[in-house]
Formats: sequence, C-alpha cells, structure tokens
Amino acid sequence: MIEDSFLHKGLRRKLVDQVKNKGITDQRILDAIQKIPRHAFIDSSFLKFAYQDQAFPISSGQTISQPFTVAFQTQLIDIKLYDKVLEVGTGSGYQAAVLAEMGARVYTIERIRKLHQEAQLIHRELGYQIKFFLGDGYKGLPSYAPFDKILITAAAPDIPEELKHQLKTGGILVAPIGNQDGQVMTKCVRTGEDTFEITKHGNFAFVPMKEGLE
Ligand code: SAH
Repeated sequence: MIEDSFLHKGLRRKLVDQVKNKGITDQRILDAIQKIPRHAFIDSSFLKFAYQDQAFPISSGQTISQPFTVAFQTQLIDIKLYDKVLEVGTGSGYQAAVLAEMGARVYTIERIRKLHQEAQLIHRELGYQIKFFLGDGYKGLPSYAPFDKILITAAAPDIPEELKHQLKTGGILVAPIGNQDGQVMTKCVRTGEDTFEITKHGNFAFVPMKEGLE
C-alpha cells in the first residue's frame, strides 16, 4: 500500500508553487503534480527528497527527472485528452503517470528490465492504465505507430529518424538533444510526409539514451 498523507499533500502543494513560479502555466499539469504521490517512485529511505524540485537517483544508475523538467516537457508537447503518446525512457514511471493523469493514452518503453518491472508495480498500485514495453526506444514501437506525441526523456545526439516517422502528420516530438555535457530541449513538429519544423527551448541535463537492451 502506498501511503499518501496530509504531509505529502502539503509538500506537493509547495512543489506545485515552485514549478508554477518557474513558468509552468498549464493548470492540468499542475493538477497532475498535485495529485500524483511522487514519493511512491523514489526509494522510501529518501522520502524527504521526493518533493524537492530536483532530479534524483533511482535504481540502475538512472534518475527520476526534476519535476520542473517533467512539467516543461509536458507543456511543450501540448498534451490533449486521448492523445496517443509514446514515452521513451520509462525510468521511475513518474512522467508516464503525469501523462496518464492528463488523459493521454500512454505507451512507454524502457531498455532496463528492472526499471521496466518496478514502474509497472507502482502503476498497478496507483491504478494507471499504461502500456509498458521492454525494448530499445531508438526503434520506437512501429506496430503501434503512428503517435500524436513522442516524448524522449533521455539525451540523444540527434532526433532519432525512426521516431520522427512514427509521428502522425501534425504530431509533436520533444527530446533533449546533445551530448553528456548538456542538451537543448528540442521540439519537432511533423508538418508533412518528410518535412519537420524544429524549435529549441533551453538547456537541460539528462542521462544518455543508449542503444539496445541493457
Ligand atoms: N521518464 C523518466 C526519466 C527516466 S531517465 C521518469 O519519469 O522517471 C531516462 C531513462 O531512459 C532511463 O531509465 C534509461 O534507462 C532510459 N533509456 C535510455 N536509453 C533508452 C533507450 N534506447 N530505450 C529506452 N529507454 C532508454
């Protein structure tokens, strides 16, 4: 059982204020952060870190993204009700929960089996209906494509070609593009069969996107 007390809710209210002050205006995102027990996605011995606006280590050398970063990517990708969304890099499963809470149909892919399994357990307890896949996000999910939105939550050197072509026309892909020294948040809109519109949205630091299964 995941305990969610008044203390947790109060801490989340403060977190929501911080994220809002940093420029997140979409109320549906703020409501999702208010509602989701982020502490359930973090090792219970680090409870006090769950509601700081910081990235935090999870198992297998990976991280749960900073809440502001989750909110920023979610805002950029402009989630609409029933959007079919592919998330690359399940990690803790927190970002997937935010998307589900906003009414998206979420498909999430992770290359590390342990994380893939742990995230599913948490989601089962919290009652989210998400499709989890163990695999290489560089390949996407061709048999489920096309997607309205694709959200990459690990740093890629370039926008993966395969993924661009798994977008619907008018669909949006958001990804941190760069190397281990830092990445630029990049938004790619598919405007036609082979045309894409790219815009850049500031500097971020993510763990790297790696090829193949672990
Ligand atoms: N969205 C996550 C953040 C995870 S960190 C959250 O909300 O917690 C990035 C994740 O991407 C890591 O778990 C890492 O293992 C995963 N990853 C890296 N390369 C990948 C790939 N090619 N395919 C799928 N997942 C990948």
